Amino acid sequence: MNLFTSVFDLFFPPKCIYCGEFLALGDRPLICRRCLDLIPISQLRCGKCGGVITYNNGMPECLSCKTAGRYFDGVFAPATYNGNVRLAILKYKFSAQTYMAKPLSYFTAGGLKKLGVKADLVLSVPPDPKRRTKRGFDYTGQLAKYVASELKIPFRSDWLKKTKSTPAQSRLTKAERLKNIKGSFALTSKANVAGLSILLVDDIFTTGATTSEVSKLLKKKGAKYVFVATLAKR
Ligand SMILES: [Zn+2]
Ligand SMILES: [Zn+2]
Repeated sequence: MNLFTSVFDLFFPPKCIYCGEFLALGDRPLICRRCLDLIPISQLRCGKCGGVITYNNGMPECLSCKTAGRYFDGVFAPATYNGNVRLAILKYKFSAQTYMAKPLSYFTAGGLKKLGVKADLVLSVPPDPKRRTKRGFDYTGQLAKYVASELKIPFRSDWLKKTKSTPAQSRLTKAERLKNIKGSFALTSKANVAGLSILLVDDIFTTGATTSEVSKLLKKKGAKYVFVATLAKR
């Protein structure tokens, strides 16, 4: 803890971003002890594909097997998108509270480290051209930045772009999602993914339609391996 942090904390006592509980001075990363235990980081692997086992209402499931036929090679989501996790993500997205990016990506980065996921590069699902200007910041890019710094892997925020605006995925069915997102991403002229293992960060994992579409593009351009990491699964 540095001097600035301790003085700052005296006037603005830090609160847990998930439950709002006040934290001890200098306690980082803005997550209380109780919430730290609430989100389990699994180390179990799927017997069939070697993918990461996560829990859906207490039941183990392999997202990689569940979403077989997608273009990515594996998926990790440390939490289920409900309760305080959902509220914290929504608050971050719609209020543009950038300080939340670090504590929100804490479980994702920690889980990836425990699992030993290796990659040459971190990329993030780029924001929709229309919605980005409305909210003013690339919230997924901010998450990816912290995941990358925790894992000590370079992050490129300007390699991927969304080329056309599409309706929000949340109101669509699985089939509509795939159709909606098709062909809407591109690599910029700076990008060269040939032969690379890529960690692709997105905020929430739902059907995997978006991350699969980006993975398809990355594979077409020569990426060797694409592993998807999100904050939570729906
Ligand atoms: Zn808490
Ligand atoms: Zn599996």
